[in-house]
Amino acid sequence: MTVDPTTTYPKPPFDKQTQPFPGLAGQMHPKPDHGETSYVGSGRLTGRKALITGGDSGMGRAAAIAFAREGADVAINYLPDEEADAREVIALIEKEGRKGVALPGDLRDETFCETLIEDTVAALGGIDTLVNNAGRQQQAQSITDISSEDFDATMKTNIYAMFWLTKAALKHMKPGSVIIQTTSEQAYDPSANLVDYAITKAAGMNFTKSMAKQLGPKGIRVNGVAPGPIWTPLQVSGGATMEKLQGFGGDTPMGRPGQPAELASIYVQLADPKASYANGQVYGAAGGGGQP
Ligand code: NAD
Ligand code: MG
Repeated sequence: MTVDPTTTYPKPPFDKQTQPFPGLAGQMHPKPDHGETSYVGSGRLTGRKALITGGDSGMGRAAAIAFAREGADVAINYLPDEEADAREVIALIEKEGRKGVALPGDLRDETFCETLIEDTVAALGGIDTLVNNAGRQQQAQSITDISSEDFDATMKTNIYAMFWLTKAALKHMKPGSVIIQTTSEQAYDPSANLVDYAITKAAGMNFTKSMAKQLGPKGIRVNGVAPGPIWTPLQVSGGATMEKLQGFGGDTPMGRPGQPAELASIYVQLADPKASYANGQVYGAAGGGGQP
């Protein structure tokens, strides 16, 4: 069966819409596709124990659904305001007969990050897959519009949490474990209005490569996923200007934004033990642009 990727999903123009950060997938229009009705598993992650941050919506939710359908037990972290999205994900995981564990809390806190790993280990009986996916993106036209508090929140969410969670998870990870970062095309080609955010995505890409060298000899693989413009709450809750949102993804060769479901199989591929030589790699999905 062939499917034309240019017509599979909604194209701009999109309706004007805005939500307070962090936003809910359930209140977006059109609703994003996370693979709820489409992802079919084939046992690629049987028995794995995964923690996915930002697992309530967007790429994290698409990965959570796919991991469960591939046979993994999955814990998700998210902010308390996102409980409604998270409940839907937990129900989808449990529908697969897998363990779904909801662990809300703010990743900007080091102690919480350590507790999150310990709670994951207690609930799943270990951890062998960590997906550092949560992210904060608030666009600002000028650097003078970025307060120190904003800058700090972006660094804490996107860089410190990745550092704290990885350190804590390594206490439990055995050879064969994997760590996956969600980076971005912004790591390589930053937008003028995403100064603080783009710094963090470059950091995630770089962290992926140094840690792959450090952990490769221990049998732990570290890789990244670099999305282009994807239709998620991050974009409608301060991540993009209204003008950008209305034409979102229209400037890519596909003429539309990507949907989280279109990246699910990349997370699965990187987590799959059969991808045993993929280490320090960043796999992209940007609709024709981007440079992973
Ligand atoms: P999303 O809003 O669905 O996911 C981001 C998640 O981050 C939220 O669901 C929230 O749970 C979590 N989060 C934010 N601040 C947090 C905090 N302080 N504590 C705990 N959790 C927190 O949007 P998404 O686009 O799927 O984002 C997932 C990742 O993809 C992010 O790292 C983002 O930078 C990256 N990304 C997105 C795009 C895009 O166009 N949407 C492009 C490239 C990269
Ligand atoms: Mg969310």
